[in-house]
Amino acid sequence: MADFADIIDQIQMKEHMQNALVTDKVSHAYIISGENGSGKKFMANIFAKALQCEHREEKKGYIEACNECPSCIKALSGSHPDIITVTHEKPGSIGVDDIRQKLCDDVAIKPYESKYKVYIIPEGEKMTPAAQNALLKTLEEPPSYISIIILTSNINAFLPTIISRCIVLPMKPVKDDSIKKHLMENCHVVDYKAMLCASFARGNVGKALELASNERFENLKNSTIELISKLNSLEIHDIMDRLHEMLEPASEDEKNAKKGIDMGMLEDFLDILIFLFRDMLIYKATEEEDHLIFTDKVAYIRSVTENCSYKGIDRIIKNMEVAKNRINSNVNIDLALELMLIGIKENL
Ligand SMILES: [Zn+2]
Repeated sequence: MADFADIIDQIQMKEHMQNALVTDKVSHAYIISGENGSGKKFMANIFAKALQCEHREEKKGYIEACNECPSCIKALSGSHPDIITVTHEKPGSIGVDDIRQKLCDDVAIKPYESKYKVYIIPEGEKMTPAAQNALLKTLEEPPSYISIIILTSNINAFLPTIISRCIVLPMKPVKDDSIKKHLMENCHVVDYKAMLCASFARGNVGKALELASNERFENLKNSTIELISKLNSLEIHDIMDRLHEMLEPASEDEKNAKKGIDMGMLEDFLDILIFLFRDMLIYKATEEEDHLIFTDKVAYIRSVTENCSYKGIDRIIKNMEVAKNRINSNVNIDLALELMLIGIKENL
């Protein structure tokens, strides 16, 4: 039962929605844009529920849905007849028929029981140009009671004429501290893990929640640090074999894999390394543990920094950024990883 008070940060978007509720000036179309996991659907659901509520009330400084009236009860169970999610037949695209049947032909029917008819279009970037043109016709002469909320991870996929008729509300990256607090207070994640997940999520609450509940990430973190600590005693082909084992795709993730490597895991592996060596740099400079991300690995970090120069660590980090760029530009992944690991070995 989420409300405005449960939304972490996103001050501007909350302000805009609150203002619409207070003044009763609701736009016919919104675009909520933000990466996957950033909470677009979460925002849209809270706004839609509050719009339709029969007895909104002020709680903790926000105008909120009451969560008790018949409208709220239906909204909470996902069965509100006037909150319509526009689904699509093909997974890869939203076609003109999807938009016509579920939206254009439907808007003429007045709301069943509420003041508004709210349409939510998830994955809006998948609308074909024909679908967007059909939507545009509705946006040009919208019935007074409709409000369309388009969710998207890529606003560039829309025709300029669509964007110009919508109020665009971008999701902003959430502060690390806010995510950490949320994980600790509401999800009972321990302090050092909350810090790590918040740092990795780069402002994306959904990603932080997934990392915190994901055993694969915890295991990857531990095996990455173990691998690095054994680097000097292993030959490069042994290192590569172990790395391949670590990054092996789980069978259900095959689509995300390239040459036996799970690309999502590879990205996390590189980030773990970069954050680990940044920790070493910070520790080397300050000898303080307070600002480290890997607070559970302080003993290891200390032992490396005792034997490794500031310049050496700096070279390793630069080296890893080069590897990351090489991998993103689709060069031979194994070669890029091998060069990177040799670079770490030489400087460690
Ligand atoms: Zn209500």
